[in-house]
Amino acid sequence: MIDDLYNYPLYRPPSEAYSLIIQITLGCSHNKCTFCNMYKGKQFTIKPFEKVKSEIDFFRSQIKHIDKIFLADGDALIMRTESLIKILKYINLKFPEVKRISLYASPRSILLKTEKELEEIRNLGVSLVYMGLESGDNETLKEINKGATAEEITEAALKMKKIGFQLSVTVIAGILGNKDSTNHAVNTGKVISKIIPDYLGILCLVVHPETDIDIQCKKGEFVEASGDQIMEEIKLMIENINIPDNEKIIFRSNHASNYLNLKGNFPEDKDRLLDDINYAISNDYIRQRNEQYLKYSKKGF
Ligand code: SF4
Repeated sequence: MIDDLYNYPLYRPPSEAYSLIIQITLGCSHNKCTFCNMYKGKQFTIKPFEKVKSEIDFFRSQIKHIDKIFLADGDALIMRTESLIKILKYINLKFPEVKRISLYASPRSILLKTEKELEEIRNLGVSLVYMGLESGDNETLKEINKGATAEEITEAALKMKKIGFQLSVTVIAGILGNKDSTNHAVNTGKVISKIIPDYLGILCLVVHPETDIDIQCKKGEFVEASGDQIMEEIKLMIENINIPDNEKIIFRSNHASNYLNLKGNFPEDKDRLLDDINYAISNDYIRQRNEQYLKYSKKGF
């Protein structure tokens, strides 16, 4: 059974819904971000090649055709380059039809690899990398224990883009709760303008059980931001995203956590996105949406 091969919980980006997931590592090598509980119960492990090989063989025996493969878990790029290359070569041998291989990568794992190593990985079919920026503000990054500075994240992102990887970046609104988030919003917009990722997603903080933020909430040390505060924060981020007309960022803020669905491309849709936010705030849409959400979530919809 395919399900027996996976070590749960298993996460993948929404855009990998139709991809074959091959779990080449378990957990996250950092596992210390204050808002994240994804891999709390997993010890970070690099799976031995023979195990991954037998799983690839099994998948091939079950799947006639696959276009996309996602390499899980949280930071597959941290694996030693020789080991990753061995796996990628075997994937290419067994799935010659695959058009895209992607993975999550932390800034640290990118910076630990040389450009030559990353080029080899790119040439073996890894074309899309997902990286959590969370914030472009160093104080905020320190507060959430991201384990990297804005400068390191920027360097890692630009390194990947130079080599020819597509880059998908996520940031988190509401990560500071109801505290002043001006620097988080402004500096995140500025870092996005430097990186110019191919894809940008803005998520809203969800307080997950057993995270440090959850513990802070219970002690009264962290108070979640209101919907309107979060929208003001997203507005400030967007106002600070300035990229040349010949560049493009595909932007989505339509995750289940978001108060308002936003979708467009930078730079051309920037003004329209800001108009959408202003309209929602001035028409009390966010508060009403939040009340509806709470009402239906209590009913267990
Ligand atoms: S947010 Fe990413 S880097 Fe941070 S603990 Fe979770 S999986 Fe690891």
